[in-house]
Amino acid sequence: MNSKVITEHGASMYRRRGCRCDVCRVGMSSTRKKYRPISTAGRIRLDAAPLVDFLVNAEQLHNVPSKTVARWKQTGLSVYTADKWCLYFGLHPVEVFGHKFYEGCFESEMING
Ligand SMILES: [Zn+2]
Repeated sequence: MNSKVITEHGASMYRRRGCRCDVCRVGMSSTRKKYRPISTAGRIRLDAAPLVDFLVNAEQLHNVPSKTVARWKQTGLSVYTADKWCLYFGLHPVEVFGHKFYEGCFESEMING
């Protein structure tokens, strides 16, 4: 079988031949689901400022590696990272980020769903 010729319907046929039959659409959507969570994790970023401010005020910032803080300030936090660090300090992320956190979670679910 010549590997350059796509003979089976599925994600490859959808992408390369533009076929939109049921088999190709299902194949493509399952391929997308597999890769989506990775891109989603990098897409939704929360502004680090509220968390940094909180930790400064609570005199807890020294508990976070300075490289980590620098990265937060540069690229923000994913909702997962925000959740993890808030738990670490005994906070609920919503206490720190307010409605932005819910928006981030909601957006993640929309993309993943
Ligand atoms: Zn097809």
